[in-house]
Amino acid sequence: MVDISKIKNIVVVGAGVMGYGIAQVALMAGFNVTLVDIKENIVNNGLTKIEEGLKKAQKKGKIEEGVSISDLMLKCKKSVDLSSVVKESDFVFEAVVEKLEIKKQICNLVMENSPPHCIFASNTSSFRITDIAEDAKRPENVIGMHFFLPVVLQCCVEVMKGEKTSDHALDVGVEIGKRLPCLKGKRLSVRIKKESPGFIANRLLMPPLIYLSWVFDQAFEKGIPWEQIDADAEARKLTPMGPCELNDYLGIDTAFNVMKSFEKIFSTDFAPGKVLTSLVKKGNLGRKTGQGFYNWKDGKPEIQLNKKAGLLNPEMTMAIMLNEGCKLLEENIVSGYKIVDDVMLTGTSIPGPFGPGKNNYEKWSEMLEDFVEISGKKYLKPCELMKSGDFINMRK
Ligand code: NAD
Repeated sequence: MVDISKIKNIVVVGAGVMGYGIAQVALMAGFNVTLVDIKENIVNNGLTKIEEGLKKAQKKGKIEEGVSISDLMLKCKKSVDLSSVVKESDFVFEAVVEKLEIKKQICNLVMENSPPHCIFASNTSSFRITDIAEDAKRPENVIGMHFFLPVVLQCCVEVMKGEKTSDHALDVGVEIGKRLPCLKGKRLSVRIKKESPGFIANRLLMPPLIYLSWVFDQAFEKGIPWEQIDADAEARKLTPMGPCELNDYLGIDTAFNVMKSFEKIFSTDFAPGKVLTSLVKKGNLGRKTGQGFYNWKDGKPEIQLNKKAGLLNPEMTMAIMLNEGCKLLEENIVSGYKIVDDVMLTGTSIPGPFGPGKNNYEKWSEMLEDFVEISGKKYLKPCELMKSGDFINMRK
């Protein structure tokens, strides 16, 4: 096991929802933390969120006896000057917007100004670590570490290499991940043996958007109201929300940006459809802007789910995720499917596809073949491992 006892100073770049969440758990683990963003007011807001989060954790008995919140907050610094704060850093988490150029700039700046042992971990949802590290001074020290929202509650972190990453840097990332507490229990720090844009979770979560984006466009053309699509999904039975509400909740731009990245990396089938593109163009990004598929008031959408459209098949999402999980096995990104289901459950609270997939793979393969036929979205063609059911023997 790699020794991380010398890692004391952690910098978190990006004080948004992910950044302040990572900073909070790093403080709870006993590290000195500096939170960095582009504007003073954003960092201040991040610090306020961290303090609120620590108070909640204390109420749940998750802060060590005798340690006060003000003691912990004394270990948390703030800055808008990244190049100077990284001079003393041992480990840097990057959680800025999902734009490759910005992530590359930050990676270069950190590697230029930090000590030689410093490791840079990107929380990217969709880019190759190899691309983020492309022009960086020490690409061997650049890794991917993907957390889930909210960081303090969702107990998974996926840790991945780029082409030039050293095994040592990956091992350090995995050990740091294990050290970061989670309110629901121990953190699952998953070592992914081969580079996979989107890690495990987003590899599974994004392909269903090819189908959903197609459904949104069909519904728009047919004049079907969005709430009928969410009613089709039998929202709050299989998943906590239907796809329109969920995309509004997470931010339409989040799905859009990841689809754009996957379009370049995997297939043009990921190109966001007309509806998603138009919502982003209009700035109707969902809950955060008050308008997306729905109007949002006081953090809730104004919807009635009493009539179904009969357009969306909720089983398709699981079928697509099973297919993608099987592709991860075929590509040797994971050697067994248990870890895929574990990541899904601990990271997203959605059960993985392999449990139900064992009994449904034949039916689901046919559903995918039929959808490819009518939509032309070839990326969703069922792979051999899914069609044959041979994945059943590949649990670990
Ligand atoms: P966010 O919009 O809440 O926060 C991003 C922050 O980055 C903003 O505060 C912004 O001011 C800051 N920023 C932008 N450019 C910067 C720069 N040059 N230097 C310093 N700070 C800069 O976004 P988020 O949801 O916290 O996502 C951050 C990253 O985490 C993205 O890569 C995203 O894909 C990834 N991610 C998000 C989720 C999620 O559910 N939100 C889950 C896993 C991973």
